[in-house]
Amino acid sequence: MLETQAKVLLKKYYGYDDFREGQKNLIDNILKGKDVLGIMPTGAGKSICYQIPALLFEGITLVISPLISLMKDQVDTLNEMGIQAAFINSSLSDSEFRHIITNVRKNTYKLIYIAPERLETEFFSQFIQSLNVSMIAIDEAHCISQWGHDFRPSYRNISKAIENLRNQPIIAAFTATATPQVKEDIIRLLNLVQPYTLTTGFDRQNLYFEVSNPEDKFSELSTYIKNNKSKSGIIYASTRKTVESICKKLNKKGYTAAQYHAGLSEKERTKNQDEFLCDNVQIMVATNAFGMGIDKSNIAYVIHYNMPKNMESYYQEAGRAGRDGGEAECILFYSPADIITNRLLIENSNDPSKKKNDYHKLNEMSSYCNTDRCLRGYILEYFGEVDSTNKCGNCGNCNNDVKATDVTVEAQKIISCIKRMGERFGSVLVAEVLKGSKNNKVITMGFDKLTTYGIMKDYSKESIKDIIAYLIAEDYLILSGQQYPVLKVSSKSTGILKGKEPLLIKRVIKTKEEKNDKKQL
Ligand code: ADP
Ligand code: ZN
Repeated sequence: MLETQAKVLLKKYYGYDDFREGQKNLIDNILKGKDVLGIMPTGAGKSICYQIPALLFEGITLVISPLISLMKDQVDTLNEMGIQAAFINSSLSDSEFRHIITNVRKNTYKLIYIAPERLETEFFSQFIQSLNVSMIAIDEAHCISQWGHDFRPSYRNISKAIENLRNQPIIAAFTATATPQVKEDIIRLLNLVQPYTLTTGFDRQNLYFEVSNPEDKFSELSTYIKNNKSKSGIIYASTRKTVESICKKLNKKGYTAAQYHAGLSEKERTKNQDEFLCDNVQIMVATNAFGMGIDKSNIAYVIHYNMPKNMESYYQEAGRAGRDGGEAECILFYSPADIITNRLLIENSNDPSKKKNDYHKLNEMSSYCNTDRCLRGYILEYFGEVDSTNKCGNCGNCNNDVKATDVTVEAQKIISCIKRMGERFGSVLVAEVLKGSKNNKVITMGFDKLTTYGIMKDYSKESIKDIIAYLIAEDYLILSGQQYPVLKVSSKSTGILKGKEPLLIKRVIKTKEEKNDKKQL
């Protein structure tokens, strides 16, 4: 009975005829009174899974969401659809706050959005005791786990804050990214009672995945945009500086691009986001601060100008493409230097307990960039799904000729040089010695007398640094020291030095445009 009503509401408020398969199962279970855990990729339609039951329950549904900046949009959307909802967060003025609290007491709302920290306040935790709470919906539930990628300590207090509520509410937790460890944490730390757990397919068949190794990232980017002129897309870069520079250069070339990063004022960010959402601006250049909860269906491509720190972030960001189900492309511009940047970030981060896990995730990410197997297969396996196809036919590695270049000899030269220089210098100086530079420092330190001096003079400094970065990524070299990182040789290198194992670097040779990739190495 309730199930039929759910479908009626889906049509009435959202205008859709049918639930997606995962939605239906989750909603049915919630309506039966079961706790649920929904693990569904971005764009799968998680919101409807708790919003519709919220409408059917007698009491209120509290929605816990980590991002204050999104609550307003989510609530505005609901209000526009005719659903009574409100948010309570620090952006409200005193009088707005009082107004909403009064309305809550009058039972005006079906859904109230709050940040997890709100439950820690004395007033609010008392206040909810007086309410009839039917359900607690927890968005981005992976924030509860240290194994996840966005640990948020306040999530740990949710379970305590709600344990004394009048009626035991149903708990419905949702996330887009949960490895088995994270999943276990969610169930345990949220105290889910025999939850119905659903993992919907992570595969997004309309997305094409590719990793490319451009010699000149910006020129590859502008070629891509030129070939995709009328389409809307997101370009993710790792720093504000890069975001600003790309955005400026694109605008100069006559494209409409806006930027989004944490260094802009809230007003600017909202304005730029709105321009992009309503198609006034075709390209959004952003750091990972952009996109959570963004619902724009016609994004035709997501390009990562730098490699993200882990697969979870990558898949979430890339997954913003093609939400309308149309063909869309997710391209990652890989340069091994991105691995070094990410390593330094982890090294300098202030939470040592997370380091090991972060390194592990980073390695998985760099393997994605260096694998020659089907990229979709790699992703699915990472998220714990069986890859049945082996070759999807819709990714860069399936569709292009992926050549492995043997760089064993180059690696031997680099490793020997680092040893001869006493393992006390960074990649810049090592590359200069190998290149045979007459730079002052090289000469005064006497490195021009080394047998490895100039043994890679035919290579560009960039290529040498590229191989060094790869060696770091694969743990043949160790980067140590914080302010001035120096290169050391790990024991893993022995095999290479002795020529026992070849070292292969994957290079995608595009069949479409002729690319002279040899030049790069
Ligand atoms: P998520 O939170 O999982 O990332 P959303 O809840 O934001 O996803 O939904 C993604 C998009 O899919 C939204 O545009 C939403 O309206 C749409 N959508 C959700 N459920 C359905 C459905 N049953 N039929 C068609 N579109 C749907
Ligand atoms: Zn493939």
